[in-house]
Amino acid sequence: MHRGQITKVVFGSGTRSRVADEADALGCRRVLILSTPGQVDQAAEIRELLGAAAVGTFAGAAPHTPVEVTEKALAHAGSLGADSVLAIGGGSTIGLGKAIAVRTGLPQMALPTTYAGSEMTPILGETEGRRKTTRRLAEVLVKTVVYDVDLTLTFPPAISVVSGLNAMAHAVEALYAQDRDPVAFLMAGEALDALTRSLPVIAQRPDDGEARSDALYGAWLAGTCLGTVGMALHHKVCHVLGGTFGLPHAETHAVVLPHVVAYNSPAAPQAMSRLAQALPGKDAANGLFDFAGRLGAPRALRDLGMPESGIEQAAELVVRDGYWNPRPVDRTAVHAFLARAWAGETP
Ligand code: NAD
Repeated sequence: MHRGQITKVVFGSGTRSRVADEADALGCRRVLILSTPGQVDQAAEIRELLGAAAVGTFAGAAPHTPVEVTEKALAHAGSLGADSVLAIGGGSTIGLGKAIAVRTGLPQMALPTTYAGSEMTPILGETEGRRKTTRRLAEVLVKTVVYDVDLTLTFPPAISVVSGLNAMAHAVEALYAQDRDPVAFLMAGEALDALTRSLPVIAQRPDDGEARSDALYGAWLAGTCLGTVGMALHHKVCHVLGGTFGLPHAETHAVVLPHVVAYNSPAAPQAMSRLAQALPGKDAANGLFDFAGRLGAPRALRDLGMPESGIEQAAELVVRDGYWNPRPVDRTAVHAFLARAWAGETP
């Protein structure tokens, strides 16, 4: 079975010039623009492009969609009489758009500027206090996504490569998902080819338009995979580490992925052979580990601020709830690979 998606996607260079038409096509007349504090300039440009259809900007988006930020944005949207939201940014900003949509029913548009892929998923993660909850619900699907490669040119190369590895993690887990289908498998493989081709170029030449286009295309496909099939052990481990130790999202994905791939390898030969095809010359897990090294991405959880004493607790939390994985999840093995990931050892 394959579930298609209802999101309209516009992809290219300079496509942001079409936002006013796209807003009009959705019937949006009073658009509230969302961004992080660091992307106010990009938000201001979009506001200008929207012209009379823009009613204001809320530039307070923050990682992990804190409920108190959502409440402030909702109050702002209400005071302006907004009839829709447009998120320009990465997963943090798009998460805020989804959080507003689920509470108000307002339609959303997104102009993604990272490779996290949230714009293509029905997933909403939110934090209240220190607790992060994640839900899947159709109401948070973005109506129109405008991918403009030019907007990613300012994405700093060091964050771009970890964001790209985050996208690769969606594609890898789609290759062996329990509910994978031929379309998702093809999209995941294509995403991995595009990302492994482009990320090394971006690390050296962040303004290379062709590499940026390839990476954003890979991120679109990987995000679609994340939105259409179920994820497994890798996403569970990253969720636990992010929630428990406040580790940064994309960097955590970058460190953990080779270790989960090594663990799952014996149980998912078809997936691993497709992954190895995108990273020729090595087995999939070590190929990924070397690839991250060549990109200059972090490879040790201790470098992200995780205490060594946390390994035990993390292993416990990873095995606590039942969820599907191609290989049964064993606490001792999880503890062992977390220890290696913590120390930055090979998978
Ligand atoms: P992010 O949105 O937090 O962005 C990282 C930083 O980079 C921010 O400061 C942002 O302002 C800056 N930035 C982004 N694009 C830029 C650009 N082009 N130029 C200059 N600066 C730029 O990071 P992210 O990794 O995209 O998203 C992480 C969040 O998204 C996490 O909370 C994660 O849980 C969530 N997420 C959700 C889903 C989902 O499907 N719901 C999927 C992936 C990630």
